Amino acid sequence: MKTLAIIGSTGSIGASSLKVYKKNKEKFNLLFLAANSNFTKLKKQKKIYKPKYSILFKSNLSLEKKYNFSKKETLYNLKKKIDFVISGVSGFDSLDINIKLLKISKNLLIANKETIICGGRFFMNIAKRYNCNLIPIDSEHHCIDFFLKQSKFKNELSKVFLIASGGPFFKKKIKYDQDIKTVIRHPIWKMGKKISVDSSTFANKVLELFEAKTLFNLNSKQLDIKVDTTSNTHALIKLKNKIYFSIMHFPNMVVSISNALKLKNNFDINFNNFNLNLVSPSKKKFPLIALGLKILRMKGDRGPVIFTVLNERLVNMFLLNKIKYGDICISLLKIFDRKNIIRESKKQILNLKDVRKTINFAEKIDLCS
Ligand code: NDP
Ligand code: MG
Repeated sequence: MKTLAIIGSTGSIGASSLKVYKKNKEKFNLLFLAANSNFTKLKKQKKIYKPKYSILFKSNLSLEKKYNFSKKETLYNLKKKIDFVISGVSGFDSLDINIKLLKISKNLLIANKETIICGGRFFMNIAKRYNCNLIPIDSEHHCIDFFLKQSKFKNELSKVFLIASGGPFFKKKIKYDQDIKTVIRHPIWKMGKKISVDSSTFANKVLELFEAKTLFNLNSKQLDIKVDTTSNTHALIKLKNKIYFSIMHFPNMVVSISNALKLKNNFDINFNNFNLNLVSPSKKKFPLIALGLKILRMKGDRGPVIFTVLNERLVNMFLLNKIKYGDICISLLKIFDRKNIIRESKKQILNLKDVRKTINFAEKIDLCS
């Protein structure tokens, strides 16, 4: 039996992970379920799945006592490494949690792209230092990682295309004051609110370009985006001899999570009326794509971190009705036109302290001027 922890169990990745666990209970000893502040949901999950420990990161003594939750130190101070830890926590704020998870995981299945972007090569190096096998489960990166780990063509790689679904507005007009409900109603994926907004603006694909750059050590010329509105294709790999490998699976996170846990799954592509049509998204309609590629071309470490933090701040403001939908893109484009932001974006990051400095810098950027 393998030990298992699901961190961020109350979210969308958490739900997919619990689905996989439920089908394979006999193979796992569920040690931890953990959430940020949703104690009602965590309490329910505790009752159903009976983990050894349940943890609420934003907790207090009275909540811990009332619901018999454990302290986060129980997780961080573990003596024996957990076989599989699934990290479905959201946001750049989770960088520190994910760093701590590297130290207690034999295998860390990571969905959180913000951590990979912000932590960059320092996060990857900590994984190596602690002998933690880092497995991306964001579907595109999972497919690329899976391909490169098996493939003898690793050194023949010329380009990687991350495939987008197109989101809710790919074939529709986008309104400046689009309502939240329409924005987060994704045609295929059922995900958390933040990533659903990102999917509609293509910021998600931009974040994924940055994520791929770090994970697979690629440069701006080796990365691009295409759209498959069926979401069956996740990555397209081009070799130097102009031969392409398209990597497909049914669009459900259960597939990448199961694969990373070395389990089978029942989700297969439906080939009836199957129509594979990869198209290039319009950079005019989705200007964040051009911005993302421009940031990559700047070659600085800080640009992707600044974009990640600013975008998250703006999306959170939109979800709180503090700005209009159109302001997310307008603000990002305007801010990345400022001379001081371009200068800062081109700078390198030398250590984890620098990462935190860059995050602080981005957290303080004036969104309005
Ligand atoms: P959700 O918002 O649905 O869930 C987030 C989870 O993380 C919740 O359990 C939440 O707890 C917890 N959490 C939030 N903030 C913190 C924090 N600061 N510290 C600790 N825990 C925290 O998000 P998703 O599941 O949609 O996405 C999670 C991550 O996975 C994101 O980085 C996203 O980009 C990535 N991803 C998601 C995909 C998907 O299909 N959903 C696909 C590919 C990648 P609580 O409920 O208590 O707030
Ligand atoms: Mg993805």
